[in-house]
Amino acid sequence: MTAAPVALEGVPALADLLADGGALVLSGAGLSTDSGIPDYRGATGSLRRHTPMTWQTFTRDPRGRHRYWARSFVGWRQIGDARPNAGHRAVAALQAAGAVGEVITQNVDGLHQAAGARDVVELHGGLDRTVCLGCGDVADRAALDVRLRAANPGFRPEVTEEVNPDGDVELPEEALDGFVMVDCLACGGGPLKPDVVFFGETVPRDRVDHCFGLVDSARSLLVLGSSLTVMSGYRFVIHAAKRGIPVAIVNSGPTRGDAKADLKVDAPLGAVLPELARRVA
Ligand SMILES: [Zn+2]
Repeated sequence: MTAAPVALEGVPALADLLADGGALVLSGAGLSTDSGIPDYRGATGSLRRHTPMTWQTFTRDPRGRHRYWARSFVGWRQIGDARPNAGHRAVAALQAAGAVGEVITQNVDGLHQAAGARDVVELHGGLDRTVCLGCGDVADRAALDVRLRAANPGFRPEVTEEVNPDGDVELPEEALDGFVMVDCLACGGGPLKPDVVFFGETVPRDRVDHCFGLVDSARSLLVLGSSLTVMSGYRFVIHAAKRGIPVAIVNSGPTRGDAKADLKVDAPLGAVLPELARRVA
C-alpha cells in the first residue's frame, strides 16, 4: 500500500463526514487567494503594508472616504477580473451533490456564486453592491463604475501594488485630488459605501441570527480557508461545538478554532477540495 501524499491526509475522513450530507460551509479569504485576491491575515497577508479601511474612518472622515473610492475605482478592474478557482468549483459540486447545504462566506468577492453555488450568505456583504449612508438605498456597483468613468475621464494613476481584499489599491496621496466621487442617485446626495462590513463595523443582527439558525440545522460545519481570527466567523464554530455539531477545518496553517475541531486538514484548499469533491460528488 502506498501512502497518500501528505497534503491529502485527512481527506478520506472529511469525505466520510460529508457523506452524511447537509454540511454548512463557512469560508474565508484563504479560499480566494488562488483567484488572486490576497488574504489580510494568511501567509501572504498584506495587513503589514496595508491598513484596511475601518468603519470609523469611512463614516467620519470625508477625506478617508474619498481616498477609499479613488482606490476602489482603480482596484475595481482587478476585482472584476477575478475568476473562481478549483476550490470554489469544488464547493459548488459538493453542494450540487447534496453533501453541502448552505454556504456562509466571509468573502466579499462573489466568487462562490460565480462558480455556481447557491444559498450563499455573504456575512460581510458584497463588493458588487453599494449602500447609501443617507437613505439606505442598495445599488449595483457596476452601474456606479459607469458613472465614475464618466466623471473621471482622465484619472489614470500609476498603480504598482496588487489589489487589496477590500477591493482597493494603494495610490499616492497627490493622485487623490484628481478624483471626482459621485453620490447616491436615489436621494440625490447621500454618500455611498460599498455594501461590505468594514473592520470596526458590526454584522447586521438579522444576518447573524440567520447564520446561527443555519448552524443549528446543519449536520456538520466545514470551515474552509479561514484562520477564524475575527469573532464574526469564529462564533459559529463555538456555537456548533456547543451543540455537538461536528466541526471540520481545512486551512493552510493553524486557526483559532483548531481546539474545537473534530477534524483538521492543514493543507492547500486547491489540493484538498477537488479531491474531496471527486470522492463525494
Ligand atoms: Zn441615498
